[in-house]
Order: sequence, then C-alpha cells, then structure tokens
Amino acid sequence: MTTINLKNALQQHLQSLQWSAMSELSQEGELDFDFADLEQQAPNGPSAKLSAEQPSSSPSQPQTGDAIVQSSLSPAAAIGDTKPRTPDSPPIAANNAAHRPVLRSGDYGDPIVEAGDRRRALATIASEVAGCQRCPELCSNRTQTVFGAGPADAKIVFLGEGPGANEDQCGEPFVGAAGQLLNKILTASKLQRDQIYILNVVKCRPLGNRTPAGEEIENCWGYLERQLEIIQPTHIVCLGSVAAKSLLDTKSSLGKLRKQFHQYRGSKVVATYHPAYLLRTPDAKKFVWEDMKMLMNDLGVQL
Ligand code: URA
Repeated sequence: MTTINLKNALQQHLQSLQWSAMSELSQEGELDFDFADLEQQAPNGPSAKLSAEQPSSSPSQPQTGDAIVQSSLSPAAAIGDTKPRTPDSPPIAANNAAHRPVLRSGDYGDPIVEAGDRRRALATIASEVAGCQRCPELCSNRTQTVFGAGPADAKIVFLGEGPGANEDQCGEPFVGAAGQLLNKILTASKLQRDQIYILNVVKCRPLGNRTPAGEEIENCWGYLERQLEIIQPTHIVCLGSVAAKSLLDTKSSLGKLRKQFHQYRGSKVVATYHPAYLLRTPDAKKFVWEDMKMLMNDLGVQL
C-alpha cells in the first residue's frame, strides 16, 4: 500500500469512528470510544485544521450578518491591561492589587503576538492564583489551585465552573469523569484537546461540588479576565450555566442562551450544557451535539 493510500485509509477509518461517536452523542448512553491511537497516527486529519499554529478560517472578530446576541453588559471599567500593545511591549504585568473591577465589555487590547510572551504572561497570573487567599473557605480546603491548561494562543477556549476533587488533586482542569466525557465531545467534534485552552470560572475546588458563591466568582473574575485578554480566543464555549451566566453577565437560563452566538469582548461565545450534567442527564447530549455543530460550522468544519 502506498503512503497516500495508507493515509486515505486511515482518514476514512478516522472519519467512520468520528461518525460513530457523533451518533452516540446524539443518543442516550455512555460514550466509550477511544480515539487516542488513531488521532496520533493521523496528525494531519481534519482536526489538525484548528491547531494554534494554523489559525482557523474564522475571523477573530464577529462578522456583520452573523447571528450574535449582545448580552446586557455591565459598563466597561478601566483596566490597565487593555492599553494598546506593540510587539515590544513587555508581558502583561502581575497585578497584586485586590481584584479588579469587573470588565465584561469592550474589545480586547492589541494581542501579544509572540507565543512565548503569552505563556510567560499566563505563568505570571498562574503564580498569583497559586498564592491567592481571597476566599477563606476555598483556600483552606484546596490541595492546589487549578489555573487552566492549553496553548497560550488557542483559538478556542472551553470555560467550566470550577475544579472537582480530581482536578484539585492533579492541578489540571477536567480530568475526572466530566473531563473524560468532554474529551469524547471534543473528539467527535474533530477537536484535539491539546489545541484548545480549558479553564474554569473559579480556580479552587468548592467542597462537595457546590456551586461557587457569587462573591467567590467575583473574587476570581479578574484572573479569568486576564487569561482571556492574553489568549484572545476567537470562540469561547461556556460549559454549564455558571460559566455562561458569569461570562455573559446575565440571569437568562442556559436553555435560552443556547443555539445562538453571544459576544464577550472579541470572542464569539457558545453556551452549552456541562458534561457533568450530561452524565446525569444523557438525554441532553443531543443538545450539546447541536451546539458543537454550530460552533464547528462557524469555524468552517462540517460535522
Ligand atoms: N467541572 C468543571 O466545571 N471544571 C473542571 O475542571 C472539572 C469539572
């Protein structure tokens, strides 16, 4: 078999596996496909289109004509990091002051172009987060903070609620049961986990998987805001209502927020159900699949 035939055969096999996973996603039941080996064998498969080095076909700014819903945003507040940046600008500086005013509107500042600078800027915030003592209960119960993971120049960001027990132990977001399901959703959507950035609204585990309190979300908000300012993704996927309501500054239900693009600064935002909810309510998988198709279609990838 020639190399080209082998590559074609692998791609066809990969596509048929993805098709099976997609079908499963739209049905009830557990997803138990494992794509890891094939994804490694076919690095130039469909999902490679969205690598950080190869920006997606999607523009970084929402385009006229796209169905974008502008949330009722709080008034923009001054934030030091949004000043125009030049290639010579130093990485975004550490902010040791008490948390910043909430900023959910206004475009991103000029991007940091160099991936290394972005990584360094994120590392600076990560060390601040690691030493954060703003929420007494969360700090006293955490094993460690969970900052986020992924390429500093990822085009797509997935935003969860807060770390669970497994994440608290590992220091990585979405590594437990919900994370395993998220991995399957990504694979079925032709995305590779190492192409996307994953982070949470709060960086410390709320005990017993309780919903983070409003004050805890606000205490942590400046960190998330600065992470997004550095990454400047074209698209943000909010997993669950805490992520969606916090980012979009709205009280609307997730049911109402789904099926349309919203806007957070320079990013298009998709709201969908949290994988932990899908584990309890497998019927809702078909809705997540619809939302992923909407996202990927906007990125020029047909599912
Ligand atoms: N749930 C979340 O919202 N985030 C995680 O990192 C893990 C589970």
